[in-house]
Amino acid sequence: MNEYVKNLNRIEFVVTYACTGRCKHCSEGSHSRTGVYIDAETAARAVREAAGRFSITSVMTFGGEPLLYPETVCAIHRAATEEGVPKRQLITNGFFSGDKELIRRAARRLAQAGVNDVLLSADAFHQETIPLGPVKEFAKAISGLGVRLRVHPAWVVDKRHKNPYNSRTAAILSEFEGMGILQSNGNVIIPKGNARKYLSDYYDVDQEYTDPYEEDPADVRTVCINPDGSVLDGNIYRTSILKILENYVP
Ligand code: SF4
Repeated sequence: MNEYVKNLNRIEFVVTYACTGRCKHCSEGSHSRTGVYIDAETAARAVREAAGRFSITSVMTFGGEPLLYPETVCAIHRAATEEGVPKRQLITNGFFSGDKELIRRAARRLAQAGVNDVLLSADAFHQETIPLGPVKEFAKAISGLGVRLRVHPAWVVDKRHKNPYNSRTAAILSEFEGMGILQSNGNVIIPKGNARKYLSDYYDVDQEYTDPYEEDPADVRTVCINPDGSVLDGNIYRTSILKILENYVP
């Protein structure tokens, strides 16, 4: 086995960069409402192949807003469930429809596909452009089905730093707490993409900020597959994920 990937244990999918939000802190810059997304069957095949060879312990789907393309999200998590991957995670802003019935149906489909850990991105930034009503509706629906749900906020500088964004985020989190929904540790915004443009008052733009999600290229534990199928030096539309992993050099 390729020694650089022998410890692979997690597969992530950026299902799409399309998004319903327009967040000021977004590391990906600006988004449109529709866009390229990964084909459901191609993504599911990659999960089955990788989980058949490696000890994959978690599969995660995020975006953009992944629930703009629920077929793909469900296919990925169904494959992970069938392969016995224990952690099947979704990060969503919770806003993909204003129709209560559609929201409840999407929640049921996710639960049936085996999603078992939902991180709901809600905070001062998301709620500048995303209405809280449908997000709460989704939160109620998915947690009512027994799926673990936590609000996953983004903090400016750190959780304890006093600034108007963090105060507004704390108020939003209290609303969810009132519904019995707790929060994750969240993440701290690093000045990249839109965040660099809009939040430079809170950061030293000359300083190099380390991305906490950066991988050691010589010991890849997580692979992230992009909406166009690209991953490492290959593409799952053209080449099996196993071949891509086998051929990988840092
Ligand atoms: S931070 Fe998330 S919800 Fe906001 S625009 Fe970026 S991808 Fe969309």
